[in-house]
Amino acid sequence: MTDSPAEPRDYRGTVFLPKTTFPMKGDLPKREPAMLERWARLDLWRRLRAQSKGREPFVLHDGPPYANGHLHIGHALNKILKDVINRAAQMAGKDADYVPGWDCHGLPIEWKVEEEYRARGRDKDAVPVLDFRAECRAYATHWLEVQREEFIRLGVAGDWTNRYATMDFESEAAIAGEIGKFLLNGSLYRGLRPVMWSPVEKTALAEAEIEYHDHVSPTLHAKFRLLKAGAADLVGADVVIWTTTPWTIPGNRAVAYGPEIDYALVHVEGVSEGSLLKVGDRLLVALALLPAFEKEAGLGAHSIRRVLKGAELAGAIAAHPLRGAGYDFDVPLLAGDFVTTEAGTGFVHIAPGHGEDDFNLGRAHGLPIPETVNDDGTFTRHAPGFEGLHVFKAHTAIYEAMRGCGTLAATGRLTHSYPHSWRSKKPVIFRATPQWFIAMDDANAIRAKALDAIAKTRFVPEAGRNRLASMIAARPDWCISRQRAWGVPIPVFVSKQSGEPLRDPAIIERVVEAFRAEGADAWYKPGAAARFLGPGRDPAQYEQVMDIVDVWFESGSTHAFVLPPRGLPFPADLYLEGSDQHRGWFHSSLLESVGTNGVAPFKAVLTHGFVLDEQGRKMSKSLGNVTAPQDVLRQYGADILRLWVMNSDTALDLRIGPEILKQQAELYRRIRNTLRWLLGSLDGFTEAETLPYGELPELERWVLHRLTELDRRIRTAVESHDWTGVYPEIHHFCAADLSAFYFDIRKDALYCDHADSPRRRACRTVLDILHRCLCTWLAPVLVFSAEEAWLARFPDEEGSVHLLDFMFIPEGWKDEALAAKWARIRDLRGLVTAELEKARVAGVIGSSLQAAPALALPPAEAALLPPEQWAEICITSGFAIEEAAAPAARFAPAPGAKCARCWRVLPEVGASARHPALCRRCEEAVEAGP
Ligand SMILES: [Zn+2]
Repeated sequence: MTDSPAEPRDYRGTVFLPKTTFPMKGDLPKREPAMLERWARLDLWRRLRAQSKGREPFVLHDGPPYANGHLHIGHALNKILKDVINRAAQMAGKDADYVPGWDCHGLPIEWKVEEEYRARGRDKDAVPVLDFRAECRAYATHWLEVQREEFIRLGVAGDWTNRYATMDFESEAAIAGEIGKFLLNGSLYRGLRPVMWSPVEKTALAEAEIEYHDHVSPTLHAKFRLLKAGAADLVGADVVIWTTTPWTIPGNRAVAYGPEIDYALVHVEGVSEGSLLKVGDRLLVALALLPAFEKEAGLGAHSIRRVLKGAELAGAIAAHPLRGAGYDFDVPLLAGDFVTTEAGTGFVHIAPGHGEDDFNLGRAHGLPIPETVNDDGTFTRHAPGFEGLHVFKAHTAIYEAMRGCGTLAATGRLTHSYPHSWRSKKPVIFRATPQWFIAMDDANAIRAKALDAIAKTRFVPEAGRNRLASMIAARPDWCISRQRAWGVPIPVFVSKQSGEPLRDPAIIERVVEAFRAEGADAWYKPGAAARFLGPGRDPAQYEQVMDIVDVWFESGSTHAFVLPPRGLPFPADLYLEGSDQHRGWFHSSLLESVGTNGVAPFKAVLTHGFVLDEQGRKMSKSLGNVTAPQDVLRQYGADILRLWVMNSDTALDLRIGPEILKQQAELYRRIRNTLRWLLGSLDGFTEAETLPYGELPELERWVLHRLTELDRRIRTAVESHDWTGVYPEIHHFCAADLSAFYFDIRKDALYCDHADSPRRRACRTVLDILHRCLCTWLAPVLVFSAEEAWLARFPDEEGSVHLLDFMFIPEGWKDEALAAKWARIRDLRGLVTAELEKARVAGVIGSSLQAAPALALPPAEAALLPPEQWAEICITSGFAIEEAAAPAARFAPAPGAKCARCWRVLPEVGASARHPALCRRCEEAVEAGP
């Protein structure tokens, strides 16, 4: 049968349209879990470790999240970023082992268990400590398992079976050993110090455990009668102080003044109704604060006898305002550089046990530090008249007692920002208690060594360096003791005779051995003191310390029990956490490691911001703007969340919400389409088709040049840990360079050229490379989709893109001159496509193939490309080069008829007898067969 000219033949079957089984729709919430099961079945992690043996190691040491509750979006951000960095290092040729861990001890878990007790009407203090610790351990174990599954679902790869936890026996033993190092090197000491104390939780709190809220405090003005002073007119006058903590009056031991401040000696000649002042009083108040004092204390008519500098009060002695009621000691007046005239009276009452300035001034002058307040916030017998009263309920009693002594000048209330426990939300107090400290500036010189280590560390972003250094420079000695039960005990004995801790390496060894076998519970078992003190020591002579160590010390020690014991390098290559960890984990890890190893535990520190909602507000249940990772997984899948992380500038705060997720899903759809088109266009591709580099057209070589640039970008990020902008650049490459340019141009050759045409083979040679490059480059981020796109082309029961390295990109593909030339060609192409677009909008043409435009070029550029290549690049059927002083494009319709197969419009169409509907190229292609 011959073709009948009356029935034009259908050539659709002769065109090579893309063909692939890779679905258009991601369906990630359904496909991802199946992929995870496959990886578990393949034991991908073990295989990666086995095949990476001997490579240069890369270790990102995991900062442990707290095993308490489901993951939130901040956890997801942190672990995804870590995972991308690990996977990229691995694919760049390193051995990137990663051991995820958990922080398991500490107050939040203890508090939760206690809350459950309270709900059931049980008394925590009646529960044996080992039972209580067992319940805390069960609680932490439960949440560790929940979080582990949630992290795995995010696609995070790591040694999940051999994860670390601070409550593992090995860890507890190592932590005790680390404390032992500080004990033996002398940096650990016990001292009385005012610490932030939570009377509700009965423990000292770290700065990181404090939050500030408005609080209404009762206030008072108190009179301190001067018993002794340089000038005769001052003796018998009253120094007036103001305080927002009336309960600290029993702990008062001095009054501070500013040597340069002007004080007025005021003679009271009249008072308002209700005022506690008396006519005839002689008062000392800062001159600048006198007007405020007048109002607050109801001071009426008065005269200023004289104005004196604070320095004149040096050596003066006052009476305690409760003199005669058990407080008969002298109260010295002392110069204090912290005294200001911003509020109060210009005098500061000093209770050395209840404030940092108070403590330091007291220590400088050898003042006693009375222990006036118990653990639970009630007064001790060292506060005569108030014993048993709770400090927050004591103000009326103190007012009454002072009224009785005639020393109460005024009372009031003040709403101010006050420290609260972040856990119980209850106000805290400053309280002097015996605590264990690590000295910052002793012979061990931890502060100096830490600052030196900071100078040698790489910070991403760089601003982290100063942030950490300024905190280290200003911090006091490290208080590592907590009066709680769920943690690692400070394994120390104190001699009852000398009050000195016992520094015996044999005890530490026994403790470490016991903890390794039985956990830190060993410290609480009957007979522990005798067991650890060893033979020859009488337990009755020693106090066994029952404080536990601050959890920041524990997490700061993780390097010690995770890195060397597993054969991982120390220091780690990278620590990566939120920017709040400058005062948390980075800080404690640095101090701990410098104290025991002399160096930082990290070579580089990377910080990321926090996650806010789409309007830049903090997420909160009450605002209803919380994005939970679990919901994102259900709606979109992990790859979308991962894409969001890597499309953000993680050095800043990140935003997320329904609109942003929708945008990321759209971006994902475009990347997926790129992969799908690549797969379809490579249908049936074989190695034999490839052409050597030297035989590739310029357009193909330009694409390969672009790959060298992206490869460089990725490898630089692997070394610098700065990934900002890397993945947006890859998307841009896919969208602008590939989809909208290269693919668009080559569709004609791919679909319509003869199967063996060099142009088509050149293109498929490059598409093959693109598929390999994109699958591997995307694999660290789109862990599921990259795997899917890889297996769609290379189906293999045992295979995975994650077992591969990034493609080797030959240096020879780099061609800057070619890149410059093609940048110019794309500019000029823009002129042409703009003209074509005008013609299309005007309805002159439907597609660019109906055009044969002209491009006028200056002589120097006339030979950039021959006209037939310009036609290819501009996707037109014809093209003319003209000459002009400046480049300009002009539209012209293509002469001839439309080829039924490729749709180009050419004069030659109709010339063939056998295929009158085809152009010459298509005729050859059809004749040659598929
Ligand atoms: Zn054709």
